[in-house]
Amino acid sequence: GKIAAMSAEVVDSNPYSRLMALQRMGIVKDYERIRDKTVAVVGVGGVGSVAAEMLTRCGVGRLLIYDYDKVELANMNRLFFRPEHCGMTKTDAAKKTLQEINPDVEIESYTMNITTLQGFDAFKASLLQPDDPAGAASRVDLVLSCVDNYEARITINQVCLELQQTWMESGVSEDAVAGHIQLLVPGETACFQCVPPLVVASGIDERTLKREGVCAASLPTTMGIVAGMLVQAALKYMLDFGTVSKYLGYNSLKDFFPTMEIKPSAACVNGLCRQRQAEDEARRNSPEALAARA
Ligand code: ATP
Ligand code: ZN
Repeated sequence: GKIAAMSAEVVDSNPYSRLMALQRMGIVKDYERIRDKTVAVVGVGGVGSVAAEMLTRCGVGRLLIYDYDKVELANMNRLFFRPEHCGMTKTDAAKKTLQEINPDVEIESYTMNITTLQGFDAFKASLLQPDDPAGAASRVDLVLSCVDNYEARITINQVCLELQQTWMESGVSEDAVAGHIQLLVPGETACFQCVPPLVVASGIDERTLKREGVCAASLPTTMGIVAGMLVQAALKYMLDFGTVSKYLGYNSLKDFFPTMEIKPSAACVNGLCRQRQAEDEARRNSPEALAARA
């Protein structure tokens, strides 16, 4: 009652003041840079919608959201969507809610399947800087993959290799009790095709990939945790604080959070990945880079 009301008065009513406190406490150097960041969230299901909400509440500058699906009652065991959203596209429902939560965020919604020929081109075009004649420069700081199938991840991998775009992948296991996030920097870390995903996931995450005809389990807890891990990594990456692990797993049965490095493979099946690896090596061995290290 009274004590709560009194302590509440100590806190500025501006929602950003709690975020700016991160700066006062020395965690982040210049929190306001978040206003200049653009993040693409591909898939606004159990993980993506929560990740988009977190970024919206953090005050990100621009959010691009992608999904082809509609909200169904079956989605109500996850966070974010509400029964009144049923029948709306996930992108429209998400845009409406996110805009209400924080009108300062510019939200672009793309209702599309990114894996079709047309979808691939539209997805790539939406990430491009409008005034770049070569059509090769991305306007996005980070792409977050929150899809639930192999084909969509391969599409994101390919577009990000083409645009030299850093991205983060996320996944929740079919049995709903494990998950992971992974950082992918073209040429620098493994791409999604460098290591077969089942090998990457061995032991903790064998069944991350959706199988046809199997009714996957899902828990709002695991999805919320993975979304939190993903956005925490995104904030650390974009605002340069802490360490961003190349891979962070979550095994809820054992309360185990393994991390690992995943190096790119010289034998990757994706030729563009091999090209990016060569470019990265040339950069690392350039006179400037060698001088900087000396
Ligand atoms: P379920 O399929 O179990 O009912 P879901 O479809 O909500 O759940 P999630 O794992 O919660 O699955 O979220 C993944 C999201 O990614 C979904 O909203 C799905 O529509 C979206 N998605 C998957 N593939 C594509 C694609 N190729 N293009 C656009 N969105 C995609
Ligand atoms: Zn590769």
